[in-house]
Amino acid sequence: MDMQAYIDQADSVLMHTYNRYQIVLDKGEGVYLYDVNGKKYLDFAAGIAVFALGYGNKEYNNALKGQIDKLLHTSNLYYNIPATNAAKKLSFFSGMDRVFFTNSGTEAIEGAVKLARKYFYKKKGHAGSEIISMNHSFHGRSMGALSVTGNPKYREAFEPLIGGVVFADFNNLESVKDKITDNTCAIIVEPVQGEGGLYPAEKEFLFGLRDLCNELDIVLIFDEIQCGMGRTGDMFAYQGYGVKPDILTSAKALGCGVPVGAFAAVEKIADAFEPGDHGTTYGGNPFATAAVNKVFDLFEDEKILEHVKKVSQYLENKLDALAAKYDFIVERRGKGLMQGLEFKNPVKDYIQKAMDNGLIIINAGANILRFVPPLIITNSNIDDMIEILEKSFQ
Ligand SMILES: *Cc1c(COP(=O)(O)O)cnc(C)c1O
Repeated sequence: MDMQAYIDQADSVLMHTYNRYQIVLDKGEGVYLYDVNGKKYLDFAAGIAVFALGYGNKEYNNALKGQIDKLLHTSNLYYNIPATNAAKKLSFFSGMDRVFFTNSGTEAIEGAVKLARKYFYKKKGHAGSEIISMNHSFHGRSMGALSVTGNPKYREAFEPLIGGVVFADFNNLESVKDKITDNTCAIIVEPVQGEGGLYPAEKEFLFGLRDLCNELDIVLIFDEIQCGMGRTGDMFAYQGYGVKPDILTSAKALGCGVPVGAFAAVEKIADAFEPGDHGTTYGGNPFATAAVNKVFDLFEDEKILEHVKKVSQYLENKLDALAAKYDFIVERRGKGLMQGLEFKNPVKDYIQKAMDNGLIIINAGANILRFVPPLIITNSNIDDMIEILEKSFQ
C-alpha cells in the first residue's frame, strides 16, 4: 500500500482533530525516524518532547519486554513492585514526598488541581476555592486541564468550564498579586512555557510566586510535563531556578514512549488526600512504571543531564547564529534542549520543506519553530539539522 492510501484510510476512521503532516511513520532508531517508504528523517521533535532516550534503546526495550511477560496490570487495589520503585525514584529526583501516577499529562494536571482544592477545603472547612493560572499557558485538553489553560481559542467552544479560575500574566508578579483573594488555593505555572511559545520564567517571577505562596499558604504548582525530565539540563526545571513547588506534574519524557504521567507533592499538601478522594484504574500499573524505573536508571547510566548541559549550549549558539544571520528571524529563546525560534512570518512552509529534506521539526504557535530533540542528540546531529533548516528557508 502506498503512503497516500494509508493516509486516506486514517482520515476515514480517525476523528479530524489534527491537521497531520502527510507522512506515515514506521520505525525509529536513535535520533532517526523512517516512514513507510523507508525515507529517513532526523528527529528534532521526539514525539513532542517525549522520546528523551531516542528510539530503540535496547535496555529500555528489554525492561518493557520483561515486564510484559511478568505482569502488565494489577489495579491500585493492590501493591506492585515497579510502582513503588518508580515512586521512590521520582520522589528522590523531584524532591517531592508523595507520588500519584496517571496515564497522561492532562490527568496529572487534573490530580494536581484536585489536591490543591482538597487542601484548601480541609484548611478552611468549605469549598469554593480559586486557582490562578497564566495567560498563554498550556495544561491539557480535558475539562479541568482546559479550565487552567490560558488560550481562549482552545476554550471557547467548551465553556462553561470549571469555575474559579482566573488568568494572570506570565512573568508579571503584580498581575498575579492583583488576582489573589481569600479563596485562592493555588497558582499553576510552567517554569518554561512550551506550547505558549517557549518562554522561560524569569527567576524573580518564580521567587516572587514562592514568597507569595508561603505568606498566604497558597499551593504552588509547577507543570513540568514538558520542561521536566532533563530537558533544561536539570532533572526538573525548578532545580535550575532554585524555587521548589508544592506540587509538581510530570509526563511526556517520564515514560519515554509509554503513556504515563504523575503528580507529586510535598507531604503537608499530599496528606490532604484521603482514601476515596482520587483514583485511576490504569495509573501506575507495573508496565508503565517499569518504563519509568528504566528511564531514571538510564538517565543516570548515560549521564543525560551532563550531556544536555553541554549539547544545549551548542544548540543555543547555532540558533543564535541563525537568528543573527536572517532578518526574518525575530529571536531565539528557551532553556536547554527546549528552544524556540520566533519568525516574523508563519513557519508552516519551513516545517514542510524541512520534512521534504529529511528533518522533523514542530511549531509552537504559528510563527515559532520548536526544537525539542531526543536528549541524546549530538553536536553533529545539530550541525545536520542547521544545514537542512537553512536549505529549507530557500
Ligand atoms: C503536553 C503537556 C500537557 C498535557 O499532557 P498530555 O500527556 O498531552 O495529556 C500539559 N502541560 C504541559 C506543559 C504540556 O506540555
